[in-house]
Amino acid sequence: MVRDNPSITTENLTAVQLMEIDSCTRCGECVQWCPTYDASGKKPGLAPRDKILRWQEYMKKSYGLRARLFGPKQVPEEEIEQFKEDVYGCTTCAMCATVCESGINTVELWEAMRANLVKRGNGPVGKQPMFVKLIGEYGNPYMADPKERLSWVPDDVKIEDKADILYFGGCTAELRQKKLAFATARVLNHLDIPFTMLGEDEQCCNSALVRTGQYEIEDISRKSARKNVDGIKARGATKVLFACAGCYRTALVDWPRLLGEELPFEVIHITEYLDKLIDEGKINWKQPFDNKTVTYHDPCHLGRHVGVFEPPRKVLRSIPGLNFIEMDRIKDNQRCCGAGGGVKAGIPDLALGVAETRVEDALAKSPDILSSACPFCKRNLCDGRDSVKAESLEVEDVIVLTAEALGIDLSDCEDQAR
Ligand code: SF4
Ligand code: SF4
Ligand code: SF4
Repeated sequence: MVRDNPSITTENLTAVQLMEIDSCTRCGECVQWCPTYDASGKKPGLAPRDKILRWQEYMKKSYGLRARLFGPKQVPEEEIEQFKEDVYGCTTCAMCATVCESGINTVELWEAMRANLVKRGNGPVGKQPMFVKLIGEYGNPYMADPKERLSWVPDDVKIEDKADILYFGGCTAELRQKKLAFATARVLNHLDIPFTMLGEDEQCCNSALVRTGQYEIEDISRKSARKNVDGIKARGATKVLFACAGCYRTALVDWPRLLGEELPFEVIHITEYLDKLIDEGKINWKQPFDNKTVTYHDPCHLGRHVGVFEPPRKVLRSIPGLNFIEMDRIKDNQRCCGAGGGVKAGIPDLALGVAETRVEDALAKSPDILSSACPFCKRNLCDGRDSVKAESLEVEDVIVLTAEALGIDLSDCEDQAR
């Protein structure tokens, strides 16, 4: 008897993940906390539990007892297409993983399901398929000539050819939100910390490809991680600084996985580095803020994903004239800004809806400044701020506030985007 092939296979899912899927108790705790489910008006398909239970069902149809005896039961294509839309309606914020009583590593699961669907020819969604072509061809998702990577560097900024410290700028800070790169470079120069950069040799960190399940296509992710790691080694760096939460998480967690080896350098977020300098008494604030209130949004790729919660807070608390206050939902319990996991590019309306709610979280505490440590958070929180018409709320990165408090002039930076 000729049997059909399963509609959905186990490809890209590990044995542990298949067991995790079976371990869901249907408690529904994750549903209460999911920001995209909430912002969508509680669309049932976006609920994390619902996605797990549907995959459980697919596995049963493909590999259950009945499937073994009589052949797999097919899952209708429309149903798989709908599942794809739902599994991409997720910012990979990890809130569901944090609250899951069965300890399911949901983020890894969503990414594995996405990779499975990409291979099957379903995913990704919206503008996300462009990432592969753009990153493969230009080394960045903005279709920019690699030579433009250092076009923001002002004459006074000194970048060494080789140094123990390398600043990995990232595509967004170097090619779009240049004020972030500008501020980071000037802060390092101001503090007499010699650093080097990869310049036109820098490749996209691949966050966009990994988070959207496209990391295996044409081997682009592995090849660009290889080029970055080799470039960093060639410049003699043993410490690599990141001011972008997405790049930082990808370098720390995904590069070693893609390359199958440990990185020959330390991966450090700029706020961790500043935190250490503050402890060592090496920072002399020159220009206090005029009694402003600031709150901090934890980027989920810096906070929940890898546990960097305190350093950015410590930097903000140490800046004179800034009164630091917390929002109700912080650290492990933070609410995502809505931009991650490819949602900003794939489903922009959903990203905006989540951002509006996060801005409301901040407005409830009446701060002057909503700060974060990630250019994607900043961009999406600015969009959310504009959408709820809270024009007086300043949204700014911790490193830019640091530069200002050190008396560093950033007015000559021609920032193309917020
Ligand atoms: S990772 Fe975040 S957005 Fe995605 S399903 Fe879980 S809670 Fe929802
Ligand atoms: S919190 Fe965990 S166990 Fe509970 S429904 Fe969600 S995925 Fe299942
Ligand atoms: S943009 Fe920031 S908060 Fe939003 S998903 Fe990415 S890291 Fe998380």
